[in-house]
Amino acid sequence: MDTAQASEANMTSLFGLVDCNNFYASCERVFNPALNGKAVVVLSNNDGCVIARSNEAKALGIQMGEPFFKIRNLVEHNYVHAFSSNYVLYGDMSDRVMQTLSQFTPHVEVYSIDECFLDLGDFYDIDLFSYAWNIKKTVGQWTGIPVSLGVAPTKALAKVANKLAKKSKKANGVLVLTEPYHIQKALEATKIEDVWGVGSQYATFLKKHNIHTALDFSIASENWVRKHMTVVGVRLLKELRGESCLELEEITPPKKGICTSRSFGTKLTKLDDVLEATASYAARCAKKLRSQKSCARLITVFVQTNRYSENDRQYYNSKTICMPVATNSDIELIHYATLALKAIYKPNYFYKKSGVIVTEIIPENHIQYDLLDTVDRDKHSRLMKVMDGLTDRFGRSKVMVAAQGVNKDWILRSDYKSPCYTTRIAELPVVSNLI
Ligand SMILES: [Mg+2]
Repeated sequence: MDTAQASEANMTSLFGLVDCNNFYASCERVFNPALNGKAVVVLSNNDGCVIARSNEAKALGIQMGEPFFKIRNLVEHNYVHAFSSNYVLYGDMSDRVMQTLSQFTPHVEVYSIDECFLDLGDFYDIDLFSYAWNIKKTVGQWTGIPVSLGVAPTKALAKVANKLAKKSKKANGVLVLTEPYHIQKALEATKIEDVWGVGSQYATFLKKHNIHTALDFSIASENWVRKHMTVVGVRLLKELRGESCLELEEITPPKKGICTSRSFGTKLTKLDDVLEATASYAARCAKKLRSQKSCARLITVFVQTNRYSENDRQYYNSKTICMPVATNSDIELIHYATLALKAIYKPNYFYKKSGVIVTEIIPENHIQYDLLDTVDRDKHSRLMKVMDGLTDRFGRSKVMVAAQGVNKDWILRSDYKSPCYTTRIAELPVVSNLI
């Protein structure tokens, strides 16, 4: 192999992983700069527990998943600023970050709401370090969201680089891992439980076999890994050794199952109330199906009481219905969700949560029709198109199926929600100090 070939063999892949720092907490700060330097937490649905923390909140010892009531005192004394989750704002800020990133390479994989892989394979010859810094700086300037960036020859190594970029004071948010010596040091500094895809069970298992760091794992025998961790483990092994096995997934595969479930704002006992909530979740599932152009054949509804409440009698049940023809219509899914709920609902319980899961999902143009089908599917599909158009234009819950209810006593508690600064005209941020 001549030098040119050799360098090509070594330099065929390069990935960046961008991760937004404390994403939800950072979103809250963008339009409320008074929060900079303050402890900020974001709460889960129903203001239940902490799901995002600013660094200051972490320094106060607030844990991920900590129940809100445990820190209520800190909030009341203004040591901590708490927010109900505002997914409309976070979703929109996420889009802005991803769009900014796509300026730097046409090939991006949006991995989650706050993480994105970049294919930087074409950029080996440039000064990677300054390119990476430029990415971080531009996202900060254009969106106000601080990010960390790890760059390495494989996705698994980019994950390792990203974690260290965030942790290390010296890296300060950007780490480029292309030199074998640096890669080895990084693997040594990464605990096995922090490696991408190593769950807690595998971590315990590996530690029993004296594998404590990513470096220990990377020198394990391939056969041993295959035997105990299947081909998925082997792929990870190769990735950590610098051999790229996981490609960029630029198109998100359609979801195989969709679930919408929420805790109610208050405990519900009446069938009508639980029905309204469940119908709304069914409509949410239908909308998600339509947005990925698919239909579902099976619908499952479940209800449960509050399992943390010792005084309440406990009940959980679920019911699955196979629909005659796969559908993504609000009206049909609500109809079957109602039938399923009526089959499992029992009076005199305090219900805390219900949910709708749709499965057996197929592309909407692959539907098997039923000769005895009485539903006018064209009409449904036209109606749904109009409803989606209205929702996109005027916001959710402006037009809906009556079964979803109007009073919505069951709706989530979100007492500390920030405005939808970027998506609702009435909630735009106001600059008050200008004359
Ligand atoms: Mg993050």
